[in-house]
Amino acid sequence: MTNHPTFQRSFQNQIALVTGAGSGIGRATAIAFARHGANVVVSDVNERGGHETVEMIRRDGGEARFIGCDVSRSDQVKNLIANTVSTYGRLDHAFNNAGIEGTPAPLHESTDENWKRTIAVNLSAVYSCMKEEILVMLRQGSGNIVNCSSIAGIRGFPGMGAYTASKHAVLGLTKSAAIDYASSKIRINAICPGVIHTPMVDRVTHQDPKVEADYAAGAPMNRMGNPEEIADAVLWLCNPGAAFVTGTEIVVDGGWCAK
Ligand code: NAP
Repeated sequence: MTNHPTFQRSFQNQIALVTGAGSGIGRATAIAFARHGANVVVSDVNERGGHETVEMIRRDGGEARFIGCDVSRSDQVKNLIANTVSTYGRLDHAFNNAGIEGTPAPLHESTDENWKRTIAVNLSAVYSCMKEEILVMLRQGSGNIVNCSSIAGIRGFPGMGAYTASKHAVLGLTKSAAIDYASSKIRINAICPGVIHTPMVDRVTHQDPKVEADYAAGAPMNRMGNPEEIADAVLWLCNPGAAFVTGTEIVVDGGWCAK
């Protein structure tokens, strides 16, 4: 993580929540928030991964605590936000990042179960999280939300119907909510990562060097991104330097969508 001079320690005494923070992009973003001074709520359904992230932040001299949550369960999301507010009294930044890739298959061979689970985790959960986060941010009169979409929120990908639909819908939800709360000092944006080297991508490529090279070659930069490059963009969106930015998406993809 680069320590940008523009927002060095600029999240001091602020509270940041990251879902899916036990791995990959969420972990890198939780660490980045902590390095820039935030108290971080590390949330994940994967307790082991979540606790590991908290340990990494504490070893690094930062502040974090783990609160478990399956974001597809609205009752657990309510508890997560209530617990955050009862611990810290506020919520300044939320990165709704948790997501799953689902099981790739052409549409006629895909299962209803895959459709329901992918939509539940990647889309309905973003709705549930935003609902609870916005209630807190309205009370305190400010806040920033970043939702995790994907280049699959902009382009189609073979065999990824449910995933692609969920990520397109996250952009629609982001834009609509951004309009609703623009006058309430709540900024709501999305991030669209390209292919980023995380455990999710390792599951898709099976770490086969030939498949990894094919994925990398999809980007004109001819490489995968790393999770810290997404974290940098999320932090920028939450920074006062982005004060006039709402209802949009930042694409961080090594040029993939420029083709
Ligand atoms: P990752 O390494 O698999 O990390 C995702 C984390 O979310 C894992 O710890 C996972 O736990 C957790 N999670 C899964 N379902 C959850 C649920 N229901 N409630 C709470 N946590 C849950 O994936 P990643 O690559 O960092 O992806 C993070 C986000 O970026 C996702 O929304 C993904 O769609 C998006 N994205 C990734 C890429 C990429 O190339 N990596 C590209 C575009 C967008 P388990 O390990 O137990 O499943």
